[in-house]
Amino acid sequence: MFNAEVRFVARHRGLTEKLVEAVWNYAPALRRNGQLANDYSVSRKGTKVRLVCIIPEKCSMESRFHDVYGKAALRRLVRLTAGSAVTKVAGEAEDTGLSCLCLRRPSVHFFTNFLHVASPLGCGGCRRTIPFYRLRGLSHESRDGLLCWQWAYQACDDLFMHTGFGERWGYGQLSRLDSGLTAEGLKLRGQLENELKLPVFYYLHRYWGRSEAAERKRRCPGCGGAWLLPKPDGCFEFRCERCRLLSSQAPDFKSSATTNRLFR
Ligand SMILES: [Zn+2]
Ligand SMILES: [Zn+2]
Repeated sequence: MFNAEVRFVARHRGLTEKLVEAVWNYAPALRRNGQLANDYSVSRKGTKVRLVCIIPEKCSMESRFHDVYGKAALRRLVRLTAGSAVTKVAGEAEDTGLSCLCLRRPSVHFFTNFLHVASPLGCGGCRRTIPFYRLRGLSHESRDGLLCWQWAYQACDDLFMHTGFGERWGYGQLSRLDSGLTAEGLKLRGQLENELKLPVFYYLHRYWGRSEAAERKRRCPGCGGAWLLPKPDGCFEFRCERCRLLSSQAPDFKSSATTNRLFR
């Protein structure tokens, strides 16, 4: 992803307040469409208003990618501004990865974590993240559902990563097939498969295991079948085609007493 700054100039000083308001309405519309990440800020100086944001591609802010909400918000902005908005890309944002540009994708998968600012959908071909606006057929309802799911996932991951209150509960939500978070994700997955006409895989997080040997013998929690891949596919070591589930091998091994308590 890239750090960017979009500059707007109000037609005259008296319109600056309205322009700031219009930019605050424009940014969430683009966010919902995957054109920018959730962390953005707006500042003003004189008649100049700046939107500082992280975007998936250098061209993400172009109006050809806008959906109906982005176009409506842009029309309101244009009425208040002198000249067109100018987007300056400052450079690649560290540790955010690049976006998928594949024309065809064999599958799509859910993947996010507490640090992730990119789309929660990944490409089964290149393994990069897919901005929502690059997915033909993805409904507004699914986009909103995916953003809600991502926020809930990151909240659970936060609890888990901070290893204090709610750690076990958070980990259970991320790792168990029968958790409320997974149920929400699987419901969305069904919707996505209908809209995208592609297989969509759901990722079950794995952190604690009993031993490396026991990990390798793990069975798919959906069908009980073997799902260990002959060699890892990116960060995924397990994949069940039938249940369309992905997982990784635990990096941390605990005694069985601890593990039983954690997995309860
Ligand atoms: Zn791709
Ligand atoms: Zn299975």
